[in-house]
Amino acid sequence: MAGGTPRRGLRVVVIGGGVGGLCLAQGLRKAGIEVSVHERDTSVRGRHQGYRLHISPQGERALRACLPARVQELLTATANSRYGYGLAVYDEHLASLPGPVLDDPRAADPDKVDAVDRVTLRRVLLAGLDGVVRFGSRFVGCERTPGGGVLARFADGGTAAGDVLVAADGVRSAVRRWHGAHAEPRDLGVRTVFGRIPMTEALRRELPGTLQDRFTWVIGSDGYKLGLMPMVFRTAPAEAAARLWPGLGLEDTGDYFMSVFSMHRSRTGMADGELFALDGAALWRFVRERTEGWHPALRAALRSADVDETFAVAVRATVPVEPWEPGPVIPLGDAVHAMPPSGGVGANTAVRDAAALVRALLAADRGECSVAEAAGRYQAGMAGWATEAVAASLRVAKWSLRDIDFDDSALTTAGRGPRREDGGMKTADRREDR
Ligand SMILES: Cc1cc2nc3c(=O)[nH]c(=O)nc-3n(C[C@H](O)[C@H](O)[C@H](O)COP(=O)(O)OP(=O)(O)OC[C@H]3O[C@@H](n4cnc5c(N)ncnc54)[C@H](O)[C@@H]3O)c2cc1C
Repeated sequence: MAGGTPRRGLRVVVIGGGVGGLCLAQGLRKAGIEVSVHERDTSVRGRHQGYRLHISPQGERALRACLPARVQELLTATANSRYGYGLAVYDEHLASLPGPVLDDPRAADPDKVDAVDRVTLRRVLLAGLDGVVRFGSRFVGCERTPGGGVLARFADGGTAAGDVLVAADGVRSAVRRWHGAHAEPRDLGVRTVFGRIPMTEALRRELPGTLQDRFTWVIGSDGYKLGLMPMVFRTAPAEAAARLWPGLGLEDTGDYFMSVFSMHRSRTGMADGELFALDGAALWRFVRERTEGWHPALRAALRSADVDETFAVAVRATVPVEPWEPGPVIPLGDAVHAMPPSGGVGANTAVRDAAALVRALLAADRGECSVAEAAGRYQAGMAGWATEAVAASLRVAKWSLRDIDFDDSALTTAGRGPRREDGGMKTADRREDR
């Protein structure tokens, strides 16, 4: 209650239990707002989306704002313990190259959360949300209800009613397509092979210390680039759960590097369909063949890859970021602002959205404004920081990937006003994420 005013008892339906949707659910529960999350994946592991997530100071603040103390403690305990901040840039023979100076004010903070393992993060974000999250619940369409609310429909025949429906269903958002008329993220022409390289004792002995401590970016002379990002758990997840949240299933995966091998699509030597059909073993052969003349330490790292954990993606971005017409259907995260992973800011922007949306919906729940006003206020802020984040990640992509298919002029239309909402009911078509 605020100033003795009764709360309105808002009910929020979130589509998508990824980083943004789960962070939002935690924040809404902490604020005393009823929420349900509907996730199409049948389990927490879900699809391939990378392994290690960089968390910026802004992202860390947003997570801290949304998470209850006990969940935050678990997140801090399982975060990356190392990370000599900054970026080390080399050529393929490990000769140092000039690169951007990245600073992080948290460098000396022993409790900083500057990188996390994605699956561990998802499990941590699920902590305490029993009964709130429904897995295997794929959104297929939605309709407005007479009271101004929303009724969501799912592939299994289920429905969920709420005063607000949040589209947190990622880059291929079915809610965005149902909502209509919003630009699909653009293919930037970059293809990336993501991998996971266990940090074995043998590999630790073989690799120079700097490669183990920070984000390494290798610019090959032949159009191929390799990123290596170390993930060294502060506490093994299972041990942290046993101490802080007994019964919570956190799995140990061991320390590792996330590897990112990128190139323009014209350098893959094959059609996209063929690249995306390659299995882990074939993808690693693809990477190793293209790095044969590279420094032995880099080849040693690539030889140690966990082949089953390898996948290829096409890099996309939403340009421009456009707010949706303020109403009960509200977008969050990649659903409205996909960006290249090169900037390491997509998830950070999604949790920033979540923290802001919690504040806006809390005001609506307290009767200080309508849902539409809350949506408008949130989206005004979101469009600003998301447009900046997309632009920043495109700048990093242009520097690090060099030959991307992207025309800067597209950015000049960013920040346009909201589009009109499509009142008709449509059924979302099904396309799998890549
Ligand atoms: C390989 C890779 C590496 C990355 N590295 C970083 C990084 O280091 N730092 C960073 O900040 N960002 C990074 N990003 C970007 C980041 O992953 C995304 O920006 C972030 O996950 C967006 O969060 P989200 O909640 O909007 O979407 P997601 O996390 O993608 O979640 C969307 C969820 O919606 C679900 N869903 C989809 N359709 C439906 C449906 N019809 N019904 C129900 N549920 C549905 C999906 O299964 C998914 O769980 C990376 C991305 C990739 C691909």
